[in-house]
Amino acid sequence: MSKCEVCGNHKFRRQEVEEVFHIDGRYVLVEHIPATVCLQCGEKTFDAETAESIRRLLHGQNKPQRSTVLEVFAF
Ligand SMILES: [Zn+2]
Repeated sequence: MSKCEVCGNHKFRRQEVEEVFHIDGRYVLVEHIPATVCLQCGEKTFDAETAESIRRLLHGQNKPQRSTVLEVFAF
């Protein structure tokens, strides 16, 4: 990837991130995902292999490591 799809910036950083996914009516948080993060706008991009691993993780029989309460605000 050479250019941010959101802001057009060319500088990125490899970083572990966390991301909330909406799966079958519930929200799940995945931690420690290796991502490429835009230095300008913070847009997170996962490579195809990582995205596939996340998909398998969320749709497989894996038990979550732990549970937490998600607080939701309406803007
Ligand atoms: Zn950007």
